Amino acid sequence: MGHWRERPITILGSTGSIGVSTLQVARHLGIPVHTITGHSKVDELARQVVEFRPRKVVVSDPGAAPQLRHLLKGVAVVIEAGPEALVHAASHPEVGAVVTAIVGGAGLPATLAAVRAGKRVCIANKEPLVMAGGLIMAEAARSGAAILPVDSEHSAIFQCLEGHRGHEVAELLLTGSGGPFRTVQDLSQVTREQALKHPTWSMGPKITVDSATLMNKSLEVIEARWLFGIEPGRIRVVIHPQSVVHSMVAYRDGSVLAQLGLPDMRTPIQYALTFPEHTAGEVAAPDFARLSSLTFEEPDRRRFPSLDMAYAAARDGGLAPAVMNAANEMAVAAFLNGRIAFLDIFRTVERALGQLANRADPGLDDILAADAEVRARLARI
Ligand code: NDP
Ligand code: MG
Repeated sequence: MGHWRERPITILGSTGSIGVSTLQVARHLGIPVHTITGHSKVDELARQVVEFRPRKVVVSDPGAAPQLRHLLKGVAVVIEAGPEALVHAASHPEVGAVVTAIVGGAGLPATLAAVRAGKRVCIANKEPLVMAGGLIMAEAARSGAAILPVDSEHSAIFQCLEGHRGHEVAELLLTGSGGPFRTVQDLSQVTREQALKHPTWSMGPKITVDSATLMNKSLEVIEARWLFGIEPGRIRVVIHPQSVVHSMVAYRDGSVLAQLGLPDMRTPIQYALTFPEHTAGEVAAPDFARLSSLTFEEPDRRRFPSLDMAYAAARDGGLAPAVMNAANEMAVAAFLNGRIAFLDIFRTVERALGQLANRADPGLDDILAADAEVRARLARI
């Protein structure tokens, strides 16, 4: 893997919420940036090129390439376009670490490419792990890629597991804020604007809606299952509205280890890049004299049926998690466009899972075909 200071990094999805935070961390640590990628925010991508001077910039939407070339006329940077360019960027031999910050299943081919190339793969983009976690972890074992979680809960669990062995663990306790509707009893009338107001974290729109449906926590259960090789039945979701305890590991002797920090993604991003070192960062530790209380409660599985759907999909395995993810991505996009109501997100995912003809041990092609089929079917209605 090499020391983290030695080789430049690539940020897939640098124009997003995680991408921008990763650039801040890279600047703070003084790590050179090899490649950055964006999809639609071409102005922001060009601005980042001028500020961070990467060797290469990729715009994954080929239609946006002419505008990017125009904006970067005279700037010394290699410009590439299209989804294949993402795959090349993720596996470039000069790159040490790849931070995956694309949103959704669109990040799967590039994530796999980084893993196959044996990179330090700092995974924020959780959807590929949900769709194809078994394949990704098997490829990592073959290539020697180090997979480092960026998702705050998984970074916490990763840290609480350090120095311990799997058989010592009783349960992983995955904390979640509960989202903006934690105390809202009737979810039939809630709006897009309300769903986009997360109480503790500032994030991209898709994951913010996922936090409101608890689908984010649901995806995270499956993400944890693959990252830590633990059966879903031993992963428990605990609601913790203050988002200070980022997650916990309960050991078999009754001892529980927790990792705490302010809700700021720069902390887990930095640790994924600098592991096993905790180096000086730009985020302060929580001030315990000012934290009035840390509270915990059970999630409401009746109002938020996404949790039970995810546990069932994880138990069924095969294509079920990929189908759940694809239906959720389509439903969230429709909700954000004002075409469906909040509760329709649950109905859409439930219906897609109900229509699934599952199969065991799917290959990558099967997963991509199931994903495409769900998206095509939902695009028609
Ligand atoms: P954003 O929506 O803020 O950013 C998404 C990034 O992906 C942008 O750079 C965007 O480009 C790019 N992108 C969008 N569509 C495509 C596509 N089809 N092909 C290639 N690139 C694309 O998302 P977030 O930063 O919030 O989240 C990124 C990932 O990290 C998600 O999987 C999320 O679940 C995960 N995550 C995020 C956290 C957070 O705090 N934000 C916390 C933990 C996990 P452009 O903007 O140019 O269109
Ligand atoms: Mg998270």
